[in-house]
Amino acid sequence: MKEIILCYQGEIVLKGLNKAGFESMLAKILRYRAKFCGNFKVYRAQSTMYVEPLDEFADVDACFERVRKVFGFAALSRAVVCEKNFETICETAEAYLGDKLRTVKTFKVEAKRSDKTFPMKSPELSAQLGGYLLSKHPHLRVNVKNPDFTVMVEIRDFGAYIHGPKVPGAGGLPVGSSGRAMNLLSGGIDSPVAAYRMARRGLALHHIHFASPPYTSERAKMKVQSLAQIVSEYTGNCVLYVVPYTKPQEYIRDNAPDVLFTVLMRRSMMRIASKLAHEIECDALVTGESLAQVASQTLKALQCTDCAQDLPVLRPLIGLDKSEITETARAIGTFETSILPYEDCCTIFTPPHPKTKPTIAEILEAEAGMPGLAELEQQAAEQVERILIKQDEPIDLL
Ligand code: ATP
Ligand code: MG
Repeated sequence: MKEIILCYQGEIVLKGLNKAGFESMLAKILRYRAKFCGNFKVYRAQSTMYVEPLDEFADVDACFERVRKVFGFAALSRAVVCEKNFETICETAEAYLGDKLRTVKTFKVEAKRSDKTFPMKSPELSAQLGGYLLSKHPHLRVNVKNPDFTVMVEIRDFGAYIHGPKVPGAGGLPVGSSGRAMNLLSGGIDSPVAAYRMARRGLALHHIHFASPPYTSERAKMKVQSLAQIVSEYTGNCVLYVVPYTKPQEYIRDNAPDVLFTVLMRRSMMRIASKLAHEIECDALVTGESLAQVASQTLKALQCTDCAQDLPVLRPLIGLDKSEITETARAIGTFETSILPYEDCCTIFTPPHPKTKPTIAEILEAEAGMPGLAELEQQAAEQVERILIKQDEPIDLL
């Protein structure tokens, strides 16, 4: 029996005159995702996108898993479609969902009629189809409030769609609809989650990573590539910019007060990130910082980091606990990779007692004592490596 995927739009149904733009973005994203699972057709009607397999080789299971990661949908379902005729609807519902109904004790039918030319109203169709299914499964009882299983039938323009309960979609807005930003991606737990959160609000993202060889290894870089790849299943294809950061970092270590090292380094990273972001027309930076998680994430330290450059810094995790961030990392599949024990450049040279309340004045004074830093940052930005990350090319870390 041929199944089709129905994707029900979320927040974008409220977008008024801009809705068409959001919808065509979604259709483009769906077409791209679906094409790796075979021959599918994508079209839309009545705030729903249809992803329809065109031959028997099209892999609906794989496509459904991909579509679950597309931002912009409140819910999804897999349905079979049949002619809009009561008898056919009954037979199709039994053929498609009969096996499931044999495993439950209570059920209900929920009908929805958006094609008003169909002669039965929704309550009548629910009752009649319910009666038919009861006659096939006499062990069943109807429970309207809390059924074990709900049979849904939607009478739409293109036919009658029969399916079980809808499953939640990825939510949010289509990637790209809110603009583009540069995400500072480390190998840790937080920054991939930050990328996921912002992509969910419609931001297209590229990533920037600071590597300090030989203090950080090739494996550490691959781990970051792998995280970017996992996140790309949500964000779409992107570029990972890897900045060779050893020289600026050593220079700060050798020329600035120990206790200010981390904040000075973070300002330096922000300047380089901002330079590259401007070049590729990103309008914000994203980080995985969370208030007071470490010394460089106190309010005073964040204030010092913020004014190092002119782009807005988006910190979607600012009010979350580590346990909440970890929960999302597990759900999106980055956690296991994030905890692989490879070094990050942020954790090398860290002083034992960093200052938790640095002032702008002392930061500027320290930077005045580092006249060679700007040139080293410029060189690091020029030597950046660009790595294309594709959602269909997982990176093998073994
Ligand atoms: P995570 O790196 O995921 O946050 P963490 O808490 O160990 O884990 P922090 O040292 O707290 O990392 O860094 C705060 C933020 O700074 C990160 O979320 C990330 O956005 C950015 N960052 C840290 N190190 C790097 C790096 N090497 N390259 C790019 N961005 C980095
Ligand atoms: Mg962190």
